[in-house]
Amino acid sequence: MTRKFFIETFGCQMNELDSEKIAGNLQHCGLEAAGDAAGADVIILNTCSVREKAVQKAYARLGELKRSKAVRQDLLVGVVGCMAQLEGERLLKRAPFVNILAGPQKGHLMGTLVERAQASPFPAVNLRMDEDPEPLENTQVLRASRWRAGITISEGCDQRCSFCVVPFTRGRQRDRESAHILREVEELVAQGFLEVVLLGQMVNAYRDPSPAGMSFAALLRRLAQIGGLQRIRFASPHPVGFTGDLLDAMVSHPQICNHVHLPVQSGSTRVLRAMGRDYTRETYLDIVAKIRRAPRPMAISTDIIVGFPGETDADFRDTLGLLDEVQYDSVFSFKYSPRPNTPALALGDDVPEEEKGRRLTFLQERQKLIQYNKNAAMQGQVLEVLVDGRPRSRFALSGRLTNNRVVHFFGPDDLKGRIAKVEITGFTANSLKGVRI
Ligand code: SAM
Repeated sequence: MTRKFFIETFGCQMNELDSEKIAGNLQHCGLEAAGDAAGADVIILNTCSVREKAVQKAYARLGELKRSKAVRQDLLVGVVGCMAQLEGERLLKRAPFVNILAGPQKGHLMGTLVERAQASPFPAVNLRMDEDPEPLENTQVLRASRWRAGITISEGCDQRCSFCVVPFTRGRQRDRESAHILREVEELVAQGFLEVVLLGQMVNAYRDPSPAGMSFAALLRRLAQIGGLQRIRFASPHPVGFTGDLLDAMVSHPQICNHVHLPVQSGSTRVLRAMGRDYTRETYLDIVAKIRRAPRPMAISTDIIVGFPGETDADFRDTLGLLDEVQYDSVFSFKYSPRPNTPALALGDDVPEEEKGRRLTFLQERQKLIQYNKNAAMQGQVLEVLVDGRPRSRFALSGRLTNNRVVHFFGPDDLKGRIAKVEITGFTANSLKGVRI
């Protein structure tokens, strides 16, 4: 009987793409995707370690899986990705029933790891990193969507932000050759995909390793020439290296979406320096001003950390002031979480948990009001939505505008995966309502 697998993904868009690569390899090796964990013979947790909470979540899920294994001894449990890399043997001590332990970028080996785990009473482990880099090319991707595809352009990160664990879990930055990226996107468009999301820890640090030597802006320009490709997104650029050339590439190609995710982390130059971010509040605001002057309006979103070591009330007020000044279209905000190996560990963790919570709530409330007003201003506009479908909404359909806002509306099921014109008729702080026209 064909064995079935189920993957549970924690964390970012890059992890979602890694899960699609794992699924592709398992399918290639003769396994079949199960509809849920209960119907699977192999359960893989693809984990995140960027904050302690994500690690705790994965351990909590492992607690449940331990109980499942007590009644189903043939069940294989794998823990892969960033948390697996970071925890390593410690995880096997805490959860000795785990059968597979592998770091990120091991999707192409997953079938072999399952075979090894099946044939042995010992776990199959692969946590090798930089000394033996994994191939960047992977043709076995089982896509969750038929119209939107994540595309790896680089792996790892060389930017040493003092709070960030990613360089220790995903290793140094390695870039894919532009010809391979272009071929993958061309093939996806030929299959009917409409949107690609270029993924890397710092996409604008992309440097084509082939003789073509394309910069990120040049890669965008070249991708925009692929006929039939309707939308190009990318996540995330770093403020350092957000050049005029990159903005120019965006502005001159309407396929490149009207959205820049530009993580700021803090509005205080003092904190930014301690974070190792290599820009100041002023230089960040200069980039925002440049984006705001672009002939095509661009939505701007960001990431913010509150309660970084040494963050005073005055520093936090600088961050709140930045929200007012930039008027972000959306913000992902987090309480600082000390991470193993990171330079910020040496700074202590002196903002009490309660105070971090207070700052987070205050910031989120302030941002909610900004989004509410911005969304209100979109009423009456007729805009294009790439329809995703959303079974749990009371609306039949939902999708995204090029500026990345979500719109809910009624329409027939066959609109999924197509672009529909919708008039915006209502709003909340987080999404829009519309009527199809
Ligand atoms: N590479 C991207 C960059 O630097 O812009 C971000 C990748 S990270 C997975 C996503 C976000 O998580 C970061 O932008 C940051 O806001 C947040 N983050 C990273 N480390 C954190 C930590 N130790 N505590 C809290 N939030 C953190």
